[in-house]
Amino acid sequence: AASYVGFDSITRQIEHKLLKRGFQFNVMVVGQTGLGKSTLINTLFASHLIDSKGRFEPDVQPRQTTEIASQSHVIVENGVRLKLNIIDTPGYGDNVNNEGCWDPIVKYIKDQHSAYLRKELTAMRDRFIPDTRIHCCLFFINPTGHTLKPIDIVVLKKLAEVVNVVPVIAKSDSLTLEERVSFKQRVMAELQYNQIRLYPFDVDELEEEEIQFNERIRNMLPFAIVGSERSVIVDGKQVRGRKNRWGVINVEDERHCEFIYLRNFLTRTHLQDLIETTAQIHYESFRSKQLLALKE
Ligand code: GDP
Ligand code: MG
Repeated sequence: AASYVGFDSITRQIEHKLLKRGFQFNVMVVGQTGLGKSTLINTLFASHLIDSKGRFEPDVQPRQTTEIASQSHVIVENGVRLKLNIIDTPGYGDNVNNEGCWDPIVKYIKDQHSAYLRKELTAMRDRFIPDTRIHCCLFFINPTGHTLKPIDIVVLKKLAEVVNVVPVIAKSDSLTLEERVSFKQRVMAELQYNQIRLYPFDVDELEEEEIQFNERIRNMLPFAIVGSERSVIVDGKQVRGRKNRWGVINVEDERHCEFIYLRNFLTRTHLQDLIETTAQIHYESFRSKQLLALKE
């Protein structure tokens, strides 16, 4: 038989290569100290790990994040390899004078764009450029039940200009279900009032279905989450959870919190779109500004 490589087979080979290379996905967490950022990271990904640099440690002793730190992990979701970079940031707004406390975070995001652009301008076209651009920034909101702090508005504005921002209500086990609903509405109204443009965006070429999907996500934001690095026993089964005054919270139970929605959103339904939006909207706008500045 003649050895003949058909089109199908080539397509399959390319697909195979892509799947083998997997997705590179970079997530950043931002918010005040103590809101559970480091805990959530561990809750989201610890159980999926097959290989990691920088181990996840449960919070046996107090720990504080003092600088922007990146951890790389490889997880497998539905047979797809996900190369995950998690960028943990120190809490901002902890000082008396908070002027510019967000600068290092915004700079970090821009630095990744800048590094990518430099590679793009110098690398041969077909060479693979490692992607460290932040695809999603999870913004942690203090579960006060009242409203956002003025500093949150300032930081959210700065972030939304350079990255996909997804707000979450931290430690939502401290709110009742009713409090959660009204807090969400108040937060979203305030974001809208301040014209903060959150992910997902409705760009022109979307299908009707995608627009509806985006609307569903927007109606859910901010995700009310609970994180935990410990296991508790519920109905004789070990689950990730927390014990509090009222009983046991099972982090993975959607009647208790929206952790599962957030995880599905990040690792399944919006993974690819978060990556594409970063490249097509945020990076593209950075790039055109830089190239324009070069010409002047
Ligand atoms: P970070 O400073 O934002 O990184 O906060 P940490 O992840 O270090 O958490 C600070 C403290 O809050 C720790 O004692 C956690 O166990 C606790 N914590 C984290 N997530 C939650 C949560 O969802 N609910 C409650 N009640 N406590 C939490
Ligand atoms: Mg931390």
